[in-house]
Amino acid sequence: MDGGNFLVKQNTKVNLSEYKTDDTGDYSSKKDAKDSLVKNIRKMIKLQGKLYADDRYSLLLIFQAMDAAGKDGTIKHVMSGLNPQGTQVYSFKQPSAEELNHNYLWRINKALPERGRIGIFNRSYYEEVLVVRVHNLIENEKIPGSLVKDNIWQQRYKEINNFEKYLFDNGTVILKFFLHVSKEEQKRRFLERIDKKSKNWKFSASDLKEREFWENYMQCFQEAISATSTKHAPWYIIPADHKWYMRLAVSGVIVNAMSKLPINYPRLNEEQLKNLQECKQKLEMEK
Ligand code: ATP
Ligand code: MG
Repeated sequence: MDGGNFLVKQNTKVNLSEYKTDDTGDYSSKKDAKDSLVKNIRKMIKLQGKLYADDRYSLLLIFQAMDAAGKDGTIKHVMSGLNPQGTQVYSFKQPSAEELNHNYLWRINKALPERGRIGIFNRSYYEEVLVVRVHNLIENEKIPGSLVKDNIWQQRYKEINNFEKYLFDNGTVILKFFLHVSKEEQKRRFLERIDKKSKNWKFSASDLKEREFWENYMQCFQEAISATSTKHAPWYIIPADHKWYMRLAVSGVIVNAMSKLPINYPRLNEEQLKNLQECKQKLEMEK
């Protein structure tokens, strides 16, 4: 599984209703997929070691989805085993007063992964063309009224594409995941969160409120994905009704992208190698 199946090619007009939420590819069960997931995670651990030592590229993984689609669990499972020193997870919530006093990419810039690191965005600047659009929150953003035109969303797609190109040109590899869950599966997961004591904390009545805007969200998602899936920052639409398959699919996309990077453990030059030998001799001569 290399992720090719989930990739949204540039200039594709996405209609989300045509994308399956319950696909499981060539796999029939969680058990069946386990070995492949373990293999992918092992590969990722090796590649992370190189990414870190190489210290030139950074990897930015963006997760967007409806509530209960499994962002948290996917991040937890797929990243398990990675060196925590080389990863940074950032969850974007409603912007604070301070954040609203700046442009919408200000808080994003501060959270970008350093070179050699894997940065994970649990939600992202894409909220600016999703929840902000669905609930018409643009007025809260204090942008001068004369600058908020009818084409504000198209303008934002352009800004986002330019921003992502800038990151790409400076060594950030961006992979964007839309975890595509069905409305029925979301209902099932909400009910489970209500029925199971250990999951109660995960449920919030506001999630139910957002559910009422499902169609509206789907429209905004498909428009945003269509407009911002580019060669330098592609979107992947991942079937999310089966958590085990979603995790496998995401890990496959990440491994595939990382394998293509020209990253390696730095090679020492002649002089550095000579130095090493001198240090070795010194150590060996210690009494
Ligand atoms: P979980 O519920 O699993 O803890 P979550 O990502 O749903 O994770 P919440 O605190 O429930 O976290 O929700 C964060 C909320 O912040 C979401 O409803 C999201 O749409 C909203 N949000 C994120 N970015 C923005 C933004 N730029 N403008 C307005 N709302 C935003
Ligand atoms: Mg939530």
